[in-house]
Amino acid sequence: MTASRQTTPRVLLTNDDGYRAEGIRCLYEALSEWARVMVVAPDRERSGCGHAITLGNPLRLRDVNPPVGDGDWFILDGTPTDCVNLGVHHLLKSEPPAIVVSGINHGLNVGDDVTYSGTVGAAMEGHLFGLPAVALSQEPGPDVDFERTAERSSEIVRRVLDSGEEGLFNVNFPHLEPTGIKATVLSRRVYRDTVVEREDPRGGSYFWIAGTPVWDDAEDADMQAVSRGQISVTPLRLDLTHHQQVAKVQAIVGQSGLS
Ligand code: MN
Repeated sequence: MTASRQTTPRVLLTNDDGYRAEGIRCLYEALSEWARVMVVAPDRERSGCGHAITLGNPLRLRDVNPPVGDGDWFILDGTPTDCVNLGVHHLLKSEPPAIVVSGINHGLNVGDDVTYSGTVGAAMEGHLFGLPAVALSQEPGPDVDFERTAERSSEIVRRVLDSGEEGLFNVNFPHLEPTGIKATVLSRRVYRDTVVEREDPRGGSYFWIAGTPVWDDAEDADMQAVSRGQISVTPLRLDLTHHQQVAKVQAIVGQSGLS
C-alpha cells in the first residue's frame, strides 16, 4: 500500500435514485478530489423505501464503469440499505470506509419525512455500523446546479470527517443560491392531503399517495432553514425509545405476569 492510499480516506457512496442519477454522479466526482470513493448504488430508483432491507431474495452485485475516472462502481438489485450492507460487510470488509455518504437526493428529505427516505435510510445503516454518515438532498428548482451542490456537499462531508464525530447528519440544500448553513431540528409535518382516488379505464379505483406537505414553522427547524435559503444540517439519532415513558408503561402493563 502506498503512502497516499494510507492517507486518502475511503468513502462509501450510495443513493436511492439509482446509479444513473445526476446527484450521485456529481457527488462521486467532487468526493474523488480528496477521497477514494466506492459507489454501491441501487440499479434503479428506490426512493421512498426508507430503511428497508432485502431478506427474502438473493441480491446480485455487478461492477460497472464509473462515469469518469477509475473509481469503483457497483450496482445492486436491492435497497440503499442493502447497498451499505454489501459495501461495508463484503466489498470493503478488509478496509472499512471512513464515512458513509448518501445522495445527492433529487428532492428534499426534511422533517417527519426522513422515515420514508431511502437516502436517509442508507445513512442510518452506516451509522448503525458505527460509522459517521451523511445524507444529502437537494430541493428541486429551475436553477439547481448539482455540480455546485456536490462541491458544497463534499466540503461538508470533509468537515464531518475531520471533526472525528461518529454522528448521523441529514443535509438539505435550498434550490436557490444558499445564504448560509444552519444546524437545525426536524420539522413536524402538520397536515398532508394524502390519498387521491381516481378511476381506471375499466371502472375500478386506483390511488396515488400525493399532496403537498405542510410544515410547522418552528424557528430552528430544517424546513424553515431551507425555505429561508439556508443549507440545513440536522443531527439525527436512532434511539427510538421514549425514555421518559418507560416507568409509565410499567405502571400501565402492571408488575405481575399475565394469566
Ligand atoms: Mn430519491
